[in-house]
Amino acid sequence: MASFEVLMPVPGMPEIADRLERRVKLHKLWEAADREERLAAIAPNVRAIVSTWVSAPVDATLMSRLPKLEIVASFGVGYDHIDAAWAGQHGVVVTHTPGVLDEDVADIAIALTLAATRRLPQAERYLREGRWPSGAYRLTASLRGRTMGILGLGRIGAAIARRAEAFGLKIAYHGRHKQDGVAYPYYETPIALAEACDILVIAAPGGPATRHIVDSRVLAALGADGVLVNIARGSLVDERALIAALRDGVILAAGLDVYEKEPNAPTELIALDNAVLLPHVGSATRHTRAAMANLVVDNLLSWVDGKGPLTPTPETPWRR
Ligand code: NAP
Repeated sequence: MASFEVLMPVPGMPEIADRLERRVKLHKLWEAADREERLAAIAPNVRAIVSTWVSAPVDATLMSRLPKLEIVASFGVGYDHIDAAWAGQHGVVVTHTPGVLDEDVADIAIALTLAATRRLPQAERYLREGRWPSGAYRLTASLRGRTMGILGLGRIGAAIARRAEAFGLKIAYHGRHKQDGVAYPYYETPIALAEACDILVIAAPGGPATRHIVDSRVLAALGADGVLVNIARGSLVDERALIAALRDGVILAAGLDVYEKEPNAPTELIALDNAVLLPHVGSATRHTRAAMANLVVDNLLSWVDGKGPLTPTPETPWRR
């Protein structure tokens, strides 16, 4: 079906374009000398967008330029860079890649918990800098006897909880709803959860509803022995408040995979010794990224074949 035209605004994993080009007419916008001119030329015939990068928004301005748009297939489970509400209201399906990345992202949440609490990168730097012969590395905080509070006990949050239980941590959670069949204590607000736990792990979606859900009051409630871990989206944390809390000892440490303005992390955060910082690598293994790429293409080709989307977002107009 070479006549089905698909817009790919920025590059993604090569296998996405390779598989799609066998079935559809793919417009690789990043290859155009003049993006604006190319977009204007192809806009009347584009029926799908492949979204591969959270820093390249698929907003109402872009989608409204494409009168034949039917589907946006996104790489990743979080789709706060896509205006899914607008898409839903205008009959456009948005698909994402839930489920296939949970375990790798949960691994990184636990890695950040251990690294921030036990100061693993700092201890490693101590050895590399040749400082060990002049004295043992300092004692650190421990996971023993601690409670992990999970803000957003969804697919990834539950995978984090399973791992944390194996470390002997107690689990508590907050979400908009208390979940049936979940025995972990539920807290109705982020502040109540922060007061009840020692390690606060953020695993809820980004977007306007959760913007700065972890602010200076939540950080104060977490307390001076508290550790914040964020593997969700930078927008959930008031980064200015976090920098102040880390600097002033309001909390003990933070382990972060995500930031408000990616691909940049604030220099003030980079300068802090009690922050462990990763460059958004939660799902970044060959295994999981291949599974995500396949699910993006499978969603799009299922649509092209008239079988509907495989993993639509809740805002989608699609009904099975
Ligand atoms: P999910 O299964 O939909 O779980 C999201 C959880 O957040 C649910 O338990 C939900 O519970 C809760 N939640 C939703 N809105 C909320 C709100 N306004 N306030 C409080 N809690 C709220 O999603 P998932 O697949 O686990 O993914 C979670 C997020 O992780 C994604 O959206 C993505 O941004 C991020 N992520 C990051 C990486 C990375 O590389 N670092 C990789 C993958 C995903 P209720 O419905 O009860 O509120």
